[in-house]
Amino acid sequence: MTALRDVRCVKCGWDFQVPTRASVLTCPGCYQRVRVEDIVINSAVIERSLETCGRLLIDRRGAVRAGRLAAGVCIEILGEVTATEVVAERLYIGPKGRLLGDCRAGAAIIEPGAVIAGGRFSVGPVKSAG
Ligand SMILES: [Zn+2]
Repeated sequence: MTALRDVRCVKCGWDFQVPTRASVLTCPGCYQRVRVEDIVINSAVIERSLETCGRLLIDRRGAVRAGRLAAGVCIEILGEVTATEVVAERLYIGPKGRLLGDCRAGAAIIEPGAVIAGGRFSVGPVKSAG
C-alpha cells in the first residue's frame, strides 16, 4: 500500500491526500497543478514565490527573500524570512526565527526570542488564501 499524507491546496484550500513522495500534482478541488512536497530551506534563497500544499521549513541556516510564501499545512521559521506576504494554515516561529513582512495564519505559535518586524499580522481561518 502506498503511504499517503495530508495536504491542503494553497490555491483553493481543498484538503486531500497525496503519496508521500509526490512533488507536483493536480489538485482535485481546483484542477491546478500545485506543488505538494515538503520544502526545506537551509541556505540563502531568493524566490518570487514559494508555495506548497505541504510543509515549508526554513531551518536555522535558512534565509528566504520572497514575494509570497505559502504552505497548505504549515510554515516553520527557524531562520530568517523576508516576504511581501506569508500565508499558512499553521505558523511556527522558533526562538531564533525572524519574520519581516505581512502574515496571515490559521494558528500561530511564536516562541520567546522570535522576532516579527513590521507588516500586518492576522490570525484566523485561512480558507482559499488567494
Ligand atoms: Zn486546489
